[in-house]
Amino acid sequence: MRDTLHILGGGMAGSEAAWQAAQMGVPVVLHEMRPKVGTFAHRTGSFAEMVCSNSFRSDDDERNAVGLLHWEMGAANGLIMEMARSHRLPAGGALAVDRDPFAEAVTARLMNHPLISVEYGEITELPQDGHWIIATGPLTSPALANSIRAETGAESLAFFDAIAPIVYAESIDMSVAWLQSRYDKGETEEERTAYINCPMDKAQYEAFIDALLAADKTEFHEGETAGYFDGCLPIEVMAERGRETLRHGPMKPVGLTNAHKPQEKAYAVVQLRRDNKLGTLYNIVGFQTKMKYGAQTAVFKMIPGLENASFARLGGIHRNTFINSPTLLDDQMRLKTRPNIRFAGQVTGVEGYVESAAMGLLAGRMAAAEIKGQTLPPPPPDTAMGALITHITGGAEARTFQPMNVNFGLFPPIDAKGGRRGRKDRYKAYTDRAKDRFTQWLAAQ
Ligand SMILES: Cc1cc2nc3c(=O)[nH]c(=O)nc-3n(C[C@H](O)[C@H](O)[C@H](O)COP(=O)(O)OP(=O)(O)OC[C@H]3O[C@@H](n4cnc5c(N)ncnc54)[C@H](O)[C@@H]3O)c2cc1C
Repeated sequence: MRDTLHILGGGMAGSEAAWQAAQMGVPVVLHEMRPKVGTFAHRTGSFAEMVCSNSFRSDDDERNAVGLLHWEMGAANGLIMEMARSHRLPAGGALAVDRDPFAEAVTARLMNHPLISVEYGEITELPQDGHWIIATGPLTSPALANSIRAETGAESLAFFDAIAPIVYAESIDMSVAWLQSRYDKGETEEERTAYINCPMDKAQYEAFIDALLAADKTEFHEGETAGYFDGCLPIEVMAERGRETLRHGPMKPVGLTNAHKPQEKAYAVVQLRRDNKLGTLYNIVGFQTKMKYGAQTAVFKMIPGLENASFARLGGIHRNTFINSPTLLDDQMRLKTRPNIRFAGQVTGVEGYVESAAMGLLAGRMAAAEIKGQTLPPPPPDTAMGALITHITGGAEARTFQPMNVNFGLFPPIDAKGGRRGRKDRYKAYTDRAKDRFTQWLAAQ
């Protein structure tokens, strides 16, 4: 028992974790409830089923953070990336795959590995003994979710995400916006200037409400909605309840003075709050939404100061079980209260197939190293995997933690002084640095 690694969940993260650990010589038991017990999104009993889109997003490893993650997973002999490339479909710069043959190929590889065995059936309790990785994903079964909640506390396990759009700080026009906390509250200067404020006059507010009401929205998936309306109303639903609702809610202008025009009282104010310790990302406070992505970009760029905003991620509300990793996990992805248990994948608060598989890759390697009596340090924060794990295990604001895609805003800034390089060149500098550092990290193992 002691030398075996148990992995709970054969999705993107669990499959990759199993592969990595077994390749390091550690015996693995992979536990999966499908096909015996299903979810509303999965259709098959295969491992690594892609539940919705068939795309692993951009494959540009020079100027895109997801593409860089592909590269790092490839460099670390990732099974998900290898199988994705073998089942690639033409899709321009994206890595789209033929989903069923892809999942069947991942399943066959895992089943045929001499160190991997599979046990089918739902596990309903957090295990007490042995080495475990919990990778049960956004649709973790309700019984297991309850058991996780009993361990972590109700506040630390969410069943829905309510993601407000996140903007790159550098793309906000600070000649229009200003830094100030409402009523200048806070002990330190940093706290008193914790928010970025974007002012609207009456005409701008009315036009914004019209655009919100007219925007295209997405529907919930069947079986997804139970229990969502507690405390995370989409802004467009608030706007539907009355044209003034937002002005008395997340857009209220009270306690704020426009630093550029102190005499002018704003009719409404959109506030952005720092989303990471680096201060490179800001989320639009209270702006969770079910608007379609194209509509979001158009509507949010109507906000004064955000006309040229560049979004690290757009908003959304989904059924999504995830833990408050910044408070619960150590930098080895272990539960601080039960270090024999690691978490990996979307349940840790990363978002997306690729990010989930990448966190599985790290958890699998870290757990296998531990079983072999070694310690594998996380990759440096200037790599894509390092930036993600640093974010979820400490870099993110724990109080407002919501699932995150990989993006360059999570990386320590590069070229902080010069700032003259074009964005594309800067991204290339990020990926060059990351590849160097990731290669060194791999070579040290
Ligand atoms: C409806 C929906 C659509 C999505 N669409 C996309 C998309 O288009 N693109 C994208 O990049 N990401 C998407 N995601 C987000 C996410 O990236 C994927 O869900 C991804 O599969 C997460 O990987 P994972 O390994 O963490 O979880 P999963 O791939 O879901 O794997 C978890 C596994 O654990 C099993 N399991 C759960 N509970 C138990 C239990 N108690 N006992 C045993 N087994 C259990 C499940 O059956 C499942 O096989 C979507 C999520 C959802 C819910």
